[in-house]
Amino acid sequence: PLVRAPLQWQNRFSRLGGAFYARIAPQPLPAPYWVARSTRLGETLGLPPHWLASEEALAVFAGNAPLAGSAPLASVYGGHQFGHWAGQLGDGRAILLGEVLTPSGEGMELQLKGSGLTPFSRMGDGRAVLRSSIREFLASEAMHALGVPTTRALCIVGSPAPVLRETVETAAVVTRAAPSFLRFGHFEYFAWRGKTEELRALLDYAVTHFYPECERQDVAETACTLLAAVTERTAELLAHWQAVGFCHGVMNTDNMSLLGLTLDYGPFAFLDAFEPGHICNHTDVYGRYAFDRQPEVARWNLYCLAEALLPLIGEPERAVQALTPYPRRFAAAFEARMRAKLGLTDAQPSDGILIDDVLALLVRERVDYTIFWRRLSQHIAGDALAPVRDLFLDRLAFDTWMLRYSERLSSISRRQSAALMLKTNPKYILRKHLAEEVIRAASASDFAPLARLQTVLESPFDEHPGCESLADFPPDWAAQLQLSCSS
Ligand code: AMP
Ligand code: MG
Ligand code: MG
Repeated sequence: PLVRAPLQWQNRFSRLGGAFYARIAPQPLPAPYWVARSTRLGETLGLPPHWLASEEALAVFAGNAPLAGSAPLASVYGGHQFGHWAGQLGDGRAILLGEVLTPSGEGMELQLKGSGLTPFSRMGDGRAVLRSSIREFLASEAMHALGVPTTRALCIVGSPAPVLRETVETAAVVTRAAPSFLRFGHFEYFAWRGKTEELRALLDYAVTHFYPECERQDVAETACTLLAAVTERTAELLAHWQAVGFCHGVMNTDNMSLLGLTLDYGPFAFLDAFEPGHICNHTDVYGRYAFDRQPEVARWNLYCLAEALLPLIGEPERAVQALTPYPRRFAAAFEARMRAKLGLTDAQPSDGILIDDVLALLVRERVDYTIFWRRLSQHIAGDALAPVRDLFLDRLAFDTWMLRYSERLSSISRRQSAALMLKTNPKYILRKHLAEEVIRAASASDFAPLARLQTVLESPFDEHPGCESLADFPPDWAAQLQLSCSS
């Protein structure tokens, strides 16, 4: 039975035509049950909480009932995986329901992930497991609350249907939302196939709807301007990731959002101890996607996008020119984020060294990244210094840095610095072990820990009395947690 939801549809991607996707309906799942919902995102979309909690919504987001106004499809894209061209990929387990016009007048696409086979499933089963769905849901909403550009997650529906991974697990569907799920790989696919007309249509679509400021008379000029704009957004995104300690894990070009959003949460991790070389995906044996390599990988990925746009741009030099600002842009954005973490409301030339030195100290002393910044914020807000200082074995090195930092702060109002720091340095992040604990509970049908963690992550800069343990150091067993692409 067709379900009606209080949503207004505009489905602009589907108007691009059949070269860009295959129409396909989600495949039903047996005995669906609720795992989690984001009431906040629901309200942004125009879905009242009672509708989002209804049986009808459960059926829709399990993929068991069609939604009036939607036009389900799976899009085709390609990509470079671990540095190699992988050919055609596409939405192998994601189905775009369509695009909603939100009450505030913005377009938001809704996508089911894990909703069954599509023409692009290749060897896969089209499904996602509960474990990875919970991780993606929590990470999306946590990143949004941290102010990091990201795709969103509306809800998770689980099912007892078995799904084979390294062991037998159970199925789940995450409903994701974003203004667009366009990836670098969408452009790469049509370039690789030599389909210049489609490439141009995709450019028009992207520019008209998401980058109207890049519109130019001439196609080559438009493509260059878009490339420069994507370069900027990607630099900003990477600055966010590096400043918050987020490791994506699978920065293949098919996982790079054209809108500069964090996209496709697989074996991602937030750093516990500050370890720049951290590799969160244990199948990434060479560390291609190690934490400290991310900014450079993003640049490499931008070159792939540039190459894909070359048939429209013509001269390689023009494409290269669009990418040239990346390193400077990233460095400036990163420094701005780190200044905010330090409570510096203005910029001085020596700030770079102050930042480099504290990071070097955190590495050397293997200090917990989030706890350090939060304790430092609390100290600047008036608490004692001891909780910060006690994080370091080499007290002299810390005191030396602290002296320089205090000197730098002396020209700024302490109140202003503290306020900035407390809304820049989160108390709560989605640590691996926290996700693991709520996954364990949810696997035993206890969804309360997940809901509690979600609430805390939705306002990570606030104090949540009674939830202090969610802001603790990771337990010893967290170091043994292994993450893989299998999801
Ligand atoms: P990922 O590494 O998760 O970004 O996925 C890369 C490609 O594999 C994309 O085209 C996915 O749609 C596809 N894929 C991943 N897992 C599955 C699955 N279980 N079934 C079908 N396709 C999948
Ligand atoms: Mg992907
Ligand atoms: Mg994935």
